[in-house]
Amino acid sequence: MIVIGGGLAGLSSAVALAESGFRVRLLERRPFLGGRASSYVLPGGEHVDNCQHVTLGCCTNLDDFYRRVGAAGKIATYDRLVFVDREGRRAVMQASPLPPPLHLAPSLAFYPSLSWSEHNAIGHAMLAIARRGGQNAGGDVAGKTMLEWLRLHRQSEAAIRRFWGVVLVSALNDELDRIEARYGLDVFWKAFLANRAGYKLGIPRVPLSELYDGCRAAIEHQGGEVVLRSPVRRVRIADGQVAAVEMDGGYEETADAYLLAAPQDAVLALLPADLIESEPLFANLRHLRPSPITGVHLWFDREVMSEPFLILLDRTTQWIFNKSRLYGGPGDGSYLQLVISASYDLLPRPRQEIIDLCLAEVREVLPEASAAKLLKSTVIKEAAATFSPEPGSDRWRPPQRTPLPNLYLAGDWTATGWPATMEGAVRSGYQAAEAILADAGAPKRQLQPDLPAEGFAAWLAQPIP
Ligand SMILES: Cc1cc2nc3c(=O)[nH]c(=O)nc-3n(C[C@H](O)[C@H](O)[C@H](O)COP(=O)(O)OP(=O)(O)OC[C@H]3O[C@@H](n4cnc5c(N)ncnc54)[C@H](O)[C@@H]3O)c2cc1C
Repeated sequence: MIVIGGGLAGLSSAVALAESGFRVRLLERRPFLGGRASSYVLPGGEHVDNCQHVTLGCCTNLDDFYRRVGAAGKIATYDRLVFVDREGRRAVMQASPLPPPLHLAPSLAFYPSLSWSEHNAIGHAMLAIARRGGQNAGGDVAGKTMLEWLRLHRQSEAAIRRFWGVVLVSALNDELDRIEARYGLDVFWKAFLANRAGYKLGIPRVPLSELYDGCRAAIEHQGGEVVLRSPVRRVRIADGQVAAVEMDGGYEETADAYLLAAPQDAVLALLPADLIESEPLFANLRHLRPSPITGVHLWFDREVMSEPFLILLDRTTQWIFNKSRLYGGPGDGSYLQLVISASYDLLPRPRQEIIDLCLAEVREVLPEASAAKLLKSTVIKEAAATFSPEPGSDRWRPPQRTPLPNLYLAGDWTATGWPATMEGAVRSGYQAAEAILADAGAPKRQLQPDLPAEGFAAWLAQPIP
């Protein structure tokens, strides 16, 4: 079995297949594993994540993958989310003893910068989501953007910007007028309403690439191999199936089956043009539109932040992560990482301008940072961080099986029902492994169930007879 791409989709599939007895050869073009969810060392010696990555309690497949590869202990869980508004008011979101879907209601009642009537309207909209019991595809949702759905449910502009947007732009990496409502409602149902653990934030205690140490061992245990710095240049097709993959220098590698787990634009570059034009499943990938994320990394000469992370309202900076603390510091200084999702406005701006803008915001939110000296900074712009979950995007996402009998696909962009996230990538990897195992006559379930709906949410989620 050849797996092309060592991101979460390729790794999760390769590990699942190796555990089922397959000999897997994983070819990754970069010198490290993890793809978009990886880390590397800057020339100055600092370990930086490609961008801070977080997971949620509802991401059950990613959780399973971390356990399989011995990385679960490297993820810290936080059940206290701190929001800071423009005036510096802080509010904590934390589960109360009330049963789901009401467990977060007391926290939401104290959400900052909103009037009583706005809180009330948010409560009603949350109830409307809860009443759907996770069935978010039809009814008043069909064909709508999240913004249209929120306006239909009488949400004010302030509530849309300060509450719904804060959660969804980060979770889905696009603006509310570009997000299909089904995706937005799914986030609230799975993370905030169905189960009391769904909203808990998982944050790595180590640089991202250290999470994948166990993958190599799992693959090698079955006689397989992980080959870094090995870009595949072309997938050669003959007689309606993959004959080989071409590597640098023109030599070829062959296997019984091939899994393409590279991003969708790389898939289009690897397959022959006539195959892409003749198969809508491949040609349609061109319709998936990319959406950007910008990360800003700041190193200060002293400690400037006590919280592990903060979520900001009404600012360009959306999240501040205290990396020194998350990595188990404090040391002599502070390393902060800021995240801005759907950062279309920042893409054309010079790096120094972005640093100045974000530094000014950090100094307003964290008074200790005003006295501190900024020692070093860097900006990482990911123009194609994820595909945009815009209305109708699901119809362009292919299944993991292709019309070619020995070619399979995996990636956060394949059909999983989930947005482009680490959970979506692992789901795609497990789904691809299930298809490969079934076609080899050894079917085995890999996908993990969602967190069960609890309390009244369990009752709301019951299928209507
Ligand atoms: C800035 C940023 C922040 C994000 N934040 C979060 C977050 O907080 N939480 C979350 O859940 N998700 C987040 N995501 C999304 C998440 O990173 C992705 O959804 C997930 O990692 C995608 O995994 P993948 O395996 O599908 O693709 P990738 O990670 O892109 O993996 C594809 C791999 O294929 C390799 N490859 C490509 N071409 C070839 C070739 N020709 N030969 C060999 N190898 C090749 C690439 O080098 C890469 O390693 C973020 C993404 C970005 C960019």
